[in-house]
Amino acid sequence: MNHPKYEAVIGLEVHAQLSTKTKIFCGCSTKFGAAPNSQVCPVCLGMPGVLPVLNEKVVEYVIRMGLAHGCDIAERSTFARKNYFYPDLPKGYQISQYEDPICANGSVQFKLEDGTEKSVRLMRIHMEEDAGKSLHDQHQDTFVDLNRAGTPLIEIVSQPDIKTAEEAGAYLTKLRQAVRYLEICDGNMEEGSLRCDANVSVMLRGSKEFGTRTELKNLNSIKFVEKAIDAEIARQIEIIEDGGKIIQSTMGYDPHRNETRVLRTKENAHDYRYFPDPDLVMVHVTEDRITKVRNEMPELPDQKKNRLVSQYGIPVYDAEVLSADKELANYYESVCKETTDFKAASNWVMGEVMRIMKEKLLSISEFSLSPVQIAGIVNLIKDGKISTTIGKQLFEELLANGGDPATVVEAKGWLQVSDTGAIESVIDTVIASNPGQVAEFVGGKDKLFGFFVGQTMKAMKGQGNPKVINDILVKKLEALKS
Ligand code: ADP
Ligand code: MG
Ligand code: ZN
Repeated sequence: MNHPKYEAVIGLEVHAQLSTKTKIFCGCSTKFGAAPNSQVCPVCLGMPGVLPVLNEKVVEYVIRMGLAHGCDIAERSTFARKNYFYPDLPKGYQISQYEDPICANGSVQFKLEDGTEKSVRLMRIHMEEDAGKSLHDQHQDTFVDLNRAGTPLIEIVSQPDIKTAEEAGAYLTKLRQAVRYLEICDGNMEEGSLRCDANVSVMLRGSKEFGTRTELKNLNSIKFVEKAIDAEIARQIEIIEDGGKIIQSTMGYDPHRNETRVLRTKENAHDYRYFPDPDLVMVHVTEDRITKVRNEMPELPDQKKNRLVSQYGIPVYDAEVLSADKELANYYESVCKETTDFKAASNWVMGEVMRIMKEKLLSISEFSLSPVQIAGIVNLIKDGKISTTIGKQLFEELLANGGDPATVVEAKGWLQVSDTGAIESVIDTVIASNPGQVAEFVGGKDKLFGFFVGQTMKAMKGQGNPKVINDILVKKLEALKS
């Protein structure tokens, strides 16, 4: 949205659920989908007298995230208690980091639809624990499931550098890609492993002073984040234009009505009575520790992109599309293990495979054909056994019924015909049954050459070798001219 008079200021707070096996301060499993309250212990239930012990994997994961975004990693950071009452928070406080977070500064770089590069500064990335879940049934009862209580989270807080809903979406897409590449979170927004709160304010264009902000909560897809932000910007502009004032508040978004509405007027930090958690010692991160995490860092998107270009000789564009999704890039590399035609492999993955993924809303891990099957198709075409047209037909057949590509081609009788005798007789028939076109061609209408190629191909059900067809047609038609 581009308003002539107002501009928006947006800052995002993103929570990522870390994919550690156990919780942040106890040994309970974090596995999703277990029976309610089956993965709990006195620590995550907040029983009196228990002591939390920090899961070292959480520290490693947050350092990974910090290093990947150029953050300063604090040698010493502390945990604080954020006090509030809610039934799914058994201790009456959430252990979080407040004054001394483990990561500060840094930035996230991304590209917009039109190609502009954008950088958003980060304020901080800190560690905290998740709360449990309240389950509301169809009657009027509410149940509490504490399996999620104590699941490790990192919170990534941006500076208010974001100006539009589109930028917010691109920023989130980039963060999601980063956590997936770093193997610290599955990045699934619909399932709540990645959650976003958006702070939004508006001010007169060119102003230096930010307006009062509201905070949009619980946006569970990137599309909703964008729509909610646009709806909220419009709401705020309307209030100001009507002479009203924005009240700092927490907002919800109703996707059905595409409307934001006030949930509660905003609590301030002091309402939470933050204070250092006396049960936990300071987190001490040494240079050696940072070096170790740096050395064991998984490959990042840009590194993968550059490697795909140099290792497989594919265009930068292909490498960019493939590396946007780590699993997709892995799939492509698996195809390349079974063929030497790397460019054809990328064409097939970016073309047919991605087309089906889009149509059926599948992720690459849900796509039914294996890299070996795709490589099989690529190799049959490369070896001249089938044409590209038959290749596409084979792809559909494999999707429908599975099987080994070479075996299916044999069984269906789809092998490409290169036999000159066979092709010649088809061409003779084509020429004999199209006297009108032949006369025009002989009369100088060279464009009609394609017509004869097409007719021959059609007569051969796409199985004729195009090169052989071409050569024979040239000979026969030119002979007619003289
Ligand atoms: P709090 O701790 O109260 O949530 P912070 O200062 O930590 O407040 O900021 C939270 C988020 O709000 C950050 O992402 C920040 O960029 C954003 N933010 C701060 N001021 C504004 C503003 N005026 N308009 C939009 N976003 C803002
Ligand atoms: Mg906040
Ligand atoms: Zn526990």
